[in-house]
Amino acid sequence: MSNATKTIHSIPVDAQTGAIAVPIYQTSTYVQEAPGINKGFDYSRTSNPTRAALEQIIAQLENGSVGIAFASGLAAIDAVLKLLKSGDEIIAVDDIYGGAFRLFTQVYEKFGISVKYVDSANAINVFDAITPNTRLIWIETPTNPTLKISDIAAIAKIAKAHSCLLCVDNTFASPALQQPLTLGADIVVHSATKYLGGHSDLIAGLVITKDAVPGEKIKFLQNAGGAVLAPFDSWLVIRGIETLHLRVKQHCINAQAVAEYLEQHPAVDKVYYPGLQSHHNHAVAKRQAKGFGGVVSFTLKNDTEQAAVNFVTHTRLFKLAESLGGVKSLLCHPASMTHKSIPAERRRNAGVADSLIRLSVGLEEADDLIEDLEQAFDAVNKEKPAGINLPAINN
Ligand code: PLP
Repeated sequence: MSNATKTIHSIPVDAQTGAIAVPIYQTSTYVQEAPGINKGFDYSRTSNPTRAALEQIIAQLENGSVGIAFASGLAAIDAVLKLLKSGDEIIAVDDIYGGAFRLFTQVYEKFGISVKYVDSANAINVFDAITPNTRLIWIETPTNPTLKISDIAAIAKIAKAHSCLLCVDNTFASPALQQPLTLGADIVVHSATKYLGGHSDLIAGLVITKDAVPGEKIKFLQNAGGAVLAPFDSWLVIRGIETLHLRVKQHCINAQAVAEYLEQHPAVDKVYYPGLQSHHNHAVAKRQAKGFGGVVSFTLKNDTEQAAVNFVTHTRLFKLAESLGGVKSLLCHPASMTHKSIPAERRRNAGVADSLIRLSVGLEEADDLIEDLEQAFDAVNKEKPAGINLPAINN
C-alpha cells in the first residue's frame, strides 16, 4: 500500500457511531462504574480519546510502537530529555533549532546534563565525540535553518554500538518524506505545529518511539509533567494529516523551483536546499528521504543583518513570520528571530550567517512566489537601507 493511502486510512472511523471524522472528546473527566472501573479513560491529562487517536495515527505513520502528543514541539523535546539523569551527556547537531538549544543549555545543563555540539553532517564527528557518559544523540535532518543533512542509518549504527539512544527531530521532513525509526533511530520528535498540522493554526508536539519501553516512560512523563495536547488541537493535527502527502508533494515541487531560481540570482551568495546538486549531502538526502522538503534558506552577497532585514520586509506573498510548514509562504531572518537564543559566534560557526534568510515555501503557484522574490530583490536594490531597528523576538 502506498504511503499516501496508508496515511489517509490510518485515521480511524469511529467504532461507536461510524463517524468518518474522529470525534472531539472535549471532556476533562469520565464517569466510572466503581473506583478504577471505567471505559479506558479516567482523566484527560492521562488519556483522552481524541488525543489517543492522534497518538495511534502518528505511531503508525512513523513505524513506531508508541506515540505521545504534547502541547508543543518543545514540550515533546523536554519529555525526551527527562529520560536522562545528572552526569549524562548529549551529542547534538551544531545547527540546531534555537529553542532546543535554549532548553539544552539554559535548563538541562544546570541539572548536570552536558551537551556537545558537532557537525553531524559527517557521521565521523559524532563517533569522535562519544564518551562513556554519552546517552543521547540528537539530530535534526534537515536542520533548521541551514538544511544540513545527516546520515540517519550511519549515526544509528554509532548510537547502537555505544548503547546510546538516537533521537531524530523529523519536523522538516515529516513522515511523508522520511521515517527515521525505519532507518535505525530510537525516537522521533516533531513540532506538529509545522507540516503535520500544516495550516499555521496550532501549536503541537509529538514523540514516537520504536520500542515500547522508552515509549511507556515518556507516556509516564507526559502524565507526570502534564504538557498534554488539548482535544481540539489533537483533532486539528489529525485533520492536517489527512492531506499531508498531497501538501508535502507540492511543497517539495515549489521549493525546488524557488531554490533553483535563487541559485542563479546575482544578489544571492549561497542557497541551502537538499534538492540541489550543490548541497553537500544531496546524495544522502536522496537515499534516505522521498523528497527534499519545503524549506529553502539563502545568504546574500551583502552579508549583513541590515541587508537581510531589508529583504524580508519587501516581500508581499512571503509573509514575515516565525514558523514554517503552512499553506501560506513565510520567511524569516533566523539570526534575529528563531535563532536569537544562540550566541552570535556559535550561531555563525554553525553556518547561520547574519544575512541568512529562511523561506517556508507554501502552496501558492511557484511562478508567483518567484515573481515576489524578484520584486523584493528589485525593490531592495533601488532603495537605500531603511535603517529598521531589529525586533527583539526570542521564541
Ligand atoms: N523542532 C524544530 C526543528 C522546530 O523548527 C521547532 C520550532 O520551530 C521546534 C522543534 C519547536 O516546536 P514548537 O514551536 O511547536 O514548540
